[in-house]
Amino acid sequence: MENCIFCAIAEKKISANLVLENETCLAFLDNNPVSPYHTLVIPKVHYENMFDIPKAVLMEVTETIHQVCLLYAEKLGIDSIQIFNNSGPHTAQTVYHLHFHILPRFEKDAIRFEVNIRRDLVEKFPEMLTRLK
Ligand code: 5GP
Ligand code: ZN
Repeated sequence: MENCIFCAIAEKKISANLVLENETCLAFLDNNPVSPYHTLVIPKVHYENMFDIPKAVLMEVTETIHQVCLLYAEKLGIDSIQIFNNSGPHTAQTVYHLHFHILPRFEKDAIRFEVNIRRDLVEKFPEMLTRLK
């Protein structure tokens, strides 16, 4: 895909700090890291996000995420990791080439994710689930 920064990384047109590479995916360090070893895992082929990625490719991405987790556990002794993905305009998705963030976490690190718990939604669960039928 033209003008896609992650396609350019996958095609080695621009450089990245590679953690690992396999046939279908790349893992590289995020250049705006939130923690040491903040890593992005992408498929080499362009898909925007969770809404268009084929299941088979997503499984490859998942396997690569797992490889990175095991690598960090083995080489760095990391025992805590958060994994997240932004898909779509109402999230923080800025690069529309599917990617998962892998965020190693450390004791008393300063990372904070602000959330507002919506207890008012609990009473709406039955109605919400009915809409899925
Ligand atoms: P998003 O907000 O879309 O979930 O995350 C996109 C991430 O890609 C951001 O954390 C940003 O720092 C990272 N990023 C954007 N451009 C580049 C780049 O050219 N190289 C690397 N390594 N990371 C990038
Ligand atoms: Zn792309």
